[in-house]
Amino acid sequence: MMTNQNLINSHDQHVMATYGRFPIAISHGEGARLYDFDGKTYIDFASGIGVNSLGYGNKAWVQAITDQAMKFGHTSNLYYTQPAAKTAEILCKRTGYSKVFFANSGAESSEGLIKLARKYSRDKYGDCRSKIVTLEGSFHGRTITALAATGQDVFHQHFFPFTEGFCHVPVGNMSALKATADKNTCAVLIELIQGEGGVLPLDKAYVQEMAVFCQSNDLLLMIDEVQTGAGRTGSLFAFQQYGIKPDAVSFAKGIANGVPFGGFFVNEKCSTVLGPGTHATTYGGNPLGAAAANVVLDTLTDEMLAEVVKKGEYIQEKVRAMNSPYVAEVRGLGLMIGIVLQNIAHREIVGKLNDAGVLALVAGSATLRLLPPLTISYEEIDAGLAIMQAILEA
Ligand SMILES: *Cc1c(COP(=O)(O)O)cnc(C)c1O
Repeated sequence: MMTNQNLINSHDQHVMATYGRFPIAISHGEGARLYDFDGKTYIDFASGIGVNSLGYGNKAWVQAITDQAMKFGHTSNLYYTQPAAKTAEILCKRTGYSKVFFANSGAESSEGLIKLARKYSRDKYGDCRSKIVTLEGSFHGRTITALAATGQDVFHQHFFPFTEGFCHVPVGNMSALKATADKNTCAVLIELIQGEGGVLPLDKAYVQEMAVFCQSNDLLLMIDEVQTGAGRTGSLFAFQQYGIKPDAVSFAKGIANGVPFGGFFVNEKCSTVLGPGTHATTYGGNPLGAAAANVVLDTLTDEMLAEVVKKGEYIQEKVRAMNSPYVAEVRGLGLMIGIVLQNIAHREIVGKLNDAGVLALVAGSATLRLLPPLTISYEEIDAGLAIMQAILEA
């Protein structure tokens, strides 16, 4: 019989050790619960990393992928397919944006945004404007260029030379941004809530001032919504709660509930920048992923999004009410929640939570990060919080 340890042994024998994995081997899931090969149950407050927005065993999602697989699983982007056409239509209709490009992952979506900005500017102003400003503490992905965009020095190691043309400025400092975004700059790329950086929501007034500055200098304002998008924060995209109209917005993680899928959408101004031959990917808009994304998008009704807000507030309140020596601050939006810890290492808490039957994530240097499925029930939330309380109050 398969056990966690059997699977871990065979896996580690053949797979590169690029991840610091926990000794848990997932067998299957149901709702917001996961089961390992030793028969242990976990309340999943992680959803992969904010990917399994509909939880496990969602019937409409299984059916949509199955139906599409029976027809065809893939064709090239030389031809047209129905699922991708529908995904693009839903995204444009619900955001008011003009056009979508489909990719397969977050990093690839960041790459697309960067190419978009540089070509937009080059078409209009020539060679001079290639610099992109991003924020300290940001995370934009693991390709060489997405790492260069990422504003954390720990990611700027080993792989030299990194792509040129990125500058990082401190969060919340508008004058630093204005000083750095000079005549050689084409765009500003930010997350609205820094996810990997520690679940740090950006101040609304700061973001709005940035939007005005970008607009008046013809800098593209590009939002990386790989983690905040697809309903995670209680609106379809987080920018919709910030009162801004960015030029381009990326998405991935939660958009297809586990099928690799991503991309970005753009406004009218940017809609023809990437013409034939300038950008492409073999799998982008893949019909299985698009069929899965359409179920996620159809599920994220206004009522559902309102529930995400309520559940998020409920969790934040419950954690704040805990009598814990470790909780310094609780923050976030919707079901993207950061619990800033003190007096204990975040990884140690996650290990204890795992042992007790809760999966959770870390972020930044001291934050416990919760990204439960958006469909999580109050019964599942309470079960997970009870376990968390016992550990955080110990
Ligand atoms: C996870 C993440 C990425 C990278 O996504 P991958 O699918 O791992 O390439 C990029 N940006 C943000 C904000 C993310 O949270």
